[in-house]
Amino acid sequence: MKIGVLGAGQLGRMLAIAAYPLGHQMAFTANSENEPSVLLGKAFINDDKQGATKQLTNASEVITYESENTDVEVVKAISKKTPVYPGAKSLFTTQHRGREKAIFDKLDIPCAPYQMVNSLTELEQAVNKVGLPAILKTATEGYDGKGQFVIRSNDQLESAWQSMNGVEAILEGFVNFKRELSLIAVRGIDNSHKYYPLVENTHHNGILRLTIAPAENISTKTQEQAEHYMQTLLDEMGHVGVLTIELFETNNGLVANEMAPRVHNSGHWSIEGARTSQFENHVRAITGSPLGETTCLQQYCAMINIIGKHGPVDKVLELSNAHPHLYGKTERKGRKLGHITITANTLYELNTTLAALEAFMP
Ligand code: AMP
Repeated sequence: MKIGVLGAGQLGRMLAIAAYPLGHQMAFTANSENEPSVLLGKAFINDDKQGATKQLTNASEVITYESENTDVEVVKAISKKTPVYPGAKSLFTTQHRGREKAIFDKLDIPCAPYQMVNSLTELEQAVNKVGLPAILKTATEGYDGKGQFVIRSNDQLESAWQSMNGVEAILEGFVNFKRELSLIAVRGIDNSHKYYPLVENTHHNGILRLTIAPAENISTKTQEQAEHYMQTLLDEMGHVGVLTIELFETNNGLVANEMAPRVHNSGHWSIEGARTSQFENHVRAITGSPLGETTCLQQYCAMINIIGKHGPVDKVLELSNAHPHLYGKTERKGRKLGHITITANTLYELNTTLAALEAFMP
């Protein structure tokens, strides 16, 4: 099929790498010729945004997107002519933290107590309800920990509200978590579902640095609980494609944080680590093909992000069980330039490999 992607970053690039062996063609809307996906297909440059989107729509049989910050109205307009997966409902819900929390509440998925906040007065009222410590986050467009303010005492309220720059915000109670997990799932047009194992994510300065897959010591009950939450979300939104949910593991079970209607950084390990990668499964889902097996190929898998500087990439090539994936981006502080996937048969092998790649860790 002819697949169009709104956006041309590394996620689009990895979708293309997965789509070509299945015989698909790829096209993208891009902000410049330098974006990671541009070499991987036809690129319509966004000098006049609607023009590029229109060209992409005309050139595609199915459309997907790379980011939850995609304009819902654009997606609705495209959908009149060409199917867009995931659909507008998934996008509308997941691009706003308040709407995510509302769907968690509706489906009885535990999440932090929260209040929407549109002014300093509302923030004061919200703190009385939610308590402290709490996190104030912009309702939309936050990523990699941006647009967030941890409030520990009442004298921080004014600076917290000022840091939101007047945009709608959400105050969330602070979750005392043991670790951060995520679950990636995929739903086909025919309502078939597949789930990857829960993975453990470690962040530094708000940016994901390390994923261990599967997360250690996850009981069958916990995996099933996460899959149950996920299934209700997939069905409620009529989602088609990959959906990711970030979860906190607490002493009282799983607590949902946020969702992404797309392939996710915490699923990159699946390229070498799973029978079918998240990228291939997203492509399979949106093209109406049967979904692939999500089981791990080896006992232990991991993913290290390459952030800011490329570092000693040749060192990765010396290892038999590690693979670099570079996105073709220039170096910049805090920028995701690539990642390394690792597979191992034993915990010892995993740990020695992680130690050998220490230079890539913060
Ligand atoms: P987010 O953008 O919502 O994923 O938040 C970025 C990071 O902030 C998360 O990965 C957590 O480490 C932390 N965080 C976010 N929300 C909460 C919360 N309600 N309680 C405790 N930590 C949080």
